[in-house]
Amino acid sequence: MNYYSTEHKAPVASLEKAIVKGLAEDKGLYMPETIVPLQTSFIETMENHSFQEIAFEVARCFFGQDIAPTELKKIVEETLNFDCPVVNVEDDIYTLELFHGPTLAFKDVGARFMARTLQHFIRKERAEQGKTRQTNVLVATSGDTGSAVANGFLGVDGIHVFVLYPKGKVSKIQESQFTTLGKNITAIEVDGTFDDCQALVKRAFMDDDLNQEIQITSANSINVARFLPQAFYYFYAYAQLKRLSKEDIDNKVVFCTPSGNFGNITAGLFTKRMGLPVKRFIAANNANDVFYKYLKTGVYRPQPSIPTIANAMDVGAPSNFARILELYKHSWEAVKKDVHGATYTDDMIKEAIRSCYNSCGYVLDPHGACGYLALKEDLKEGELGIFLETAHPAKFKETVDDILRTDIQMPDRLQDFMKGSKLSLPLANNFEDFKALLFAKATV
Ligand SMILES: *Cc1c(COP(=O)(O)O)cnc(C)c1O
Repeated sequence: MNYYSTEHKAPVASLEKAIVKGLAEDKGLYMPETIVPLQTSFIETMENHSFQEIAFEVARCFFGQDIAPTELKKIVEETLNFDCPVVNVEDDIYTLELFHGPTLAFKDVGARFMARTLQHFIRKERAEQGKTRQTNVLVATSGDTGSAVANGFLGVDGIHVFVLYPKGKVSKIQESQFTTLGKNITAIEVDGTFDDCQALVKRAFMDDDLNQEIQITSANSINVARFLPQAFYYFYAYAQLKRLSKEDIDNKVVFCTPSGNFGNITAGLFTKRMGLPVKRFIAANNANDVFYKYLKTGVYRPQPSIPTIANAMDVGAPSNFARILELYKHSWEAVKKDVHGATYTDDMIKEAIRSCYNSCGYVLDPHGACGYLALKEDLKEGELGIFLETAHPAKFKETVDDILRTDIQMPDRLQDFMKGSKLSLPLANNFEDFKALLFAKATV
C-alpha cells in the first residue's frame, strides 16, 4: 500500500517510509491510497471472534500488502495482550474502557503497535543489508503520550526513545510512568512549557547536522502506525455491543470520542468506510472548540490551546483535521453528516463526573466525562450510544477525588511506577543544548 500526503506535494511513500519518516516532505500527513473494506461476512459474525482475531482482520486491510500474515499476527498479539471491555453505564449509554493497558490510556494500543512494526522493519533491513543504523524516536509530551510511547518501546532493540516534558507541569503519576524506566528510554526534563518541548522536537527534525548523523522519527498520532491501529477497538466495541444488546444494532450505534488531536476519532471514521454499519460519530471537546466551531460555521480557525482539567485534549490546532478533510473530500456538508460536535467547560465536566457517579456509580475521568455528557445531550430515540473512556480515572486522581470527595483506588500498575526512582536529564530550553545531548546520547 502506498501512502500519499494530505498536502499533495510530496511523492507517495511505502508503509516503511511513512512509519520511519512520520511526516511527508511537504509537512503533510500520510493517508493510505485506498481504504480496503473488511469482508461483510466477517463483520456480520464479528461477535463470535476475540479482540485479537478482529484486530488481525482489520490490520490485514491496512498492512496486509506490506507485512506477511504470520508476522502481522504476532505484532497484533503482542500489542493487544489486554482487553478493552464494553460496559453498560445507564439505559442506552455504554462505554468502551480503553484503559486496561500498561499505562492505563488508549494511546497504549497505537504506541505498542508502532513499536512492534518499527522493530519489524528494522529487523527486515538488518536481514537484507547487514548492520543498520539505530532509530531514535523523539516525543514531546504534556503527560499521556510520553508514558504510552515510552512503555510501548521499552526494551525494543534497535530503538532509542527520547521523551521531552515540561519541568513542573506534569503530574507526579504521569511523570513516574516515563522517567523511571531506564534502558532505551531517556527522559528529558525541559525548563520550559509543553510548546517549548514541541518546538525543540520540531527543530530537530529540520536540522541537517542531526539528520545526517542520526536517524530520528516521531511517535505522535501523525504517524500512521500509531494512528490506524486505533480502528481495531471500534470494530471490537461493535462486536461486544452486538453481543450485549441481543438485537439488531446496525445503523443505530453512535460512537462518541473525547478528542484533542483527533487521531482517535479519525480512526473511527475509517471504520465506517471499511463497512462497519455505524450511524454517526460525536467528537466531544473540552473548552478547546475549534472543531466544534468548524462544524457550526464551515470555517476552521486554529487557536492557542486553553488549559483545562481534561488536559490531554488541550489542543488548539488538531493535526488530524487534515485527514478528516481528506476523507470527506473537503466537503463541510459531508463531514457534518457523519460527525457531530460538542464542547464543555471545566464546570460542566465536573458536574458530569458528579452526576454519573451519583446516578450509576461509574467513575469517569475528565476526558471520558466529555464523551458521556455529549451522549446524554445528543442521543436520539432508537440510537445506541457508546463513548470511549480514554483513560483510567486514577491517572487524574487529584482532580477526580477533589470533585467526588473520594479516595479512588490506584491500580497496582500505577503504584509500581510511583515506587521507581526518577532518572531524567535536565535541559535548558535551548536547541544547541538539546542537539549536544542528542549527539551524546543517541544511538547510531
Ligand atoms: C490523547 C488523549 C485524548 C485525545 O485523543 P486524540 O486522538 O488526540 O483526539 C483524549 N483522552 C486522553 C486521556 C488522551 O490521553
